[in-house]
Amino acid sequence: MPDPAPSKDLTLRAIPSVDQLLRTEAVARLRSSIGISRLTAIAREVTDEMRRQIQSDGLPESSKEALLNEAVQGIQSLCKHESLSVLRRVINATGVILHTNLGRAPLSAAARKAIAHEAAGYCTLEYDPGVGSRGKRGGYAEELLTQLTGAEAALVVNNCASAALLILTVLAGRGETIVSRGELVEIGGDFRVPDVMSNSGTLMVEVGSTNRTRLDDYKLAVNDNTRLIMRVHPSNYRIVGFTDSPRLSELASFAHQAGLPLYEDAGSGVLADLSAIGLTDEPIISESIRAGADVVSFSGDKLLGATQAGLIVGRREIVDRLRKHSLYRALRADKLCLAALEATLDAHRRGAFEEIPALRMLALSPDSIETRALNFIAQLAEDNETAEMTATIVAGQSAVGGGSGPNVHPQTTLIALKHAQITADELERKLRLFQPPVISRIADDLVLLDLRTVDISDEPELLTAVRSLGL
Ligand SMILES: *Cc1c(COP(=O)(O)O)cnc(C)c1O
Repeated sequence: MPDPAPSKDLTLRAIPSVDQLLRTEAVARLRSSIGISRLTAIAREVTDEMRRQIQSDGLPESSKEALLNEAVQGIQSLCKHESLSVLRRVINATGVILHTNLGRAPLSAAARKAIAHEAAGYCTLEYDPGVGSRGKRGGYAEELLTQLTGAEAALVVNNCASAALLILTVLAGRGETIVSRGELVEIGGDFRVPDVMSNSGTLMVEVGSTNRTRLDDYKLAVNDNTRLIMRVHPSNYRIVGFTDSPRLSELASFAHQAGLPLYEDAGSGVLADLSAIGLTDEPIISESIRAGADVVSFSGDKLLGATQAGLIVGRREIVDRLRKHSLYRALRADKLCLAALEATLDAHRRGAFEEIPALRMLALSPDSIETRALNFIAQLAEDNETAEMTATIVAGQSAVGGGSGPNVHPQTTLIALKHAQITADELERKLRLFQPPVISRIADDLVLLDLRTVDISDEPELLTAVRSLGL
């Protein structure tokens, strides 16, 4: 009977040691980019894995040299993989403007400059050079927010979820909050109204039904423990048909008669009337304030077009209580966020919406996108005559994304790619693995690119990426 053990033992003994691997030229070269301790750990991972495979007979008998080569390659590929997982710029060719997985709103040139040139080093975060002493964090952003919304006061926190948590904790943490059953929504990225309520300590009192809630339903729920009435914008969820809910102004009058504050979580919210570019069912924050909401929260990186932030506007007395609560200290915004936010709010104040990429992209006309798409495929065709890839244009729709404007589907012109030998899945994968990654979508066996969300300055890179597929 042949005994396999001796050859297995020999192969096991031929596995290079971690030291030996670190001394090879190829591995030593990786040291400066990743650091010796991580490199040692990766070398150990690779040799441990080899040992496991040999023991389970997964590897054929190999020479010392072959195993050394294999281990070096394993280390190189793990290092490469690790370097690809850093936060990187991508080209968003999906046509989804506020793509949550791709960082929602792209920042304006002014916001980028404010981060890099003003806030990145030492800055006036909590310092007033005029008087030479401590200043108020976020003071200018708050000032702009009050001007743009007509509210008495404003406060900036980490995101809209933190804003909701802070408001519910401070105003109603020891009592009850009344909310309509039609507004108990979950918004992409794990924001669930009932969960935020329970985290804040408030007791959620649901009223009405999923599709209809009347003022009387709220009236019947008020008791001595009621502290707050909450209205939630349903964001990317809509109930259509047989529906009813009181207008915000009716809810505000009722709340005030009952001696209660009204809180609106507006979600995306917009600062000005954007119906000219198709947005008709997002709450306008100044209108909510005028309708009587005592405090309103909304996101910084949705239709406002800035960084992740939770913006709170409302009555001064309420905002002061929020600011003084210890939770605010844990949820406050950092200097990079405030710098970008101020620059973006400044563009809003000047009505310069074309400076804000998310709004500029939303406003692009179908004609201008079609012209760009036709130019793009003409350029592709120039040096692509023998290639097996075809690019055509097809009509399609873009999306707002980020839970905003679910009923808005801007008309667009898509570039459709097809390859004689390569499947659509494989083309899409190759684009993702390009540097920078190009994110596209697939429909009917075609890879689709929507130039609405591609900045003009990124088009040459996109062209290079697509050309590389034809080779
Ligand atoms: C998006 C959204 C949130 C969560 O906002 P983040 O800034 O992502 O935390 C909360 N409430 C509503 C109504 C929303 O639309």
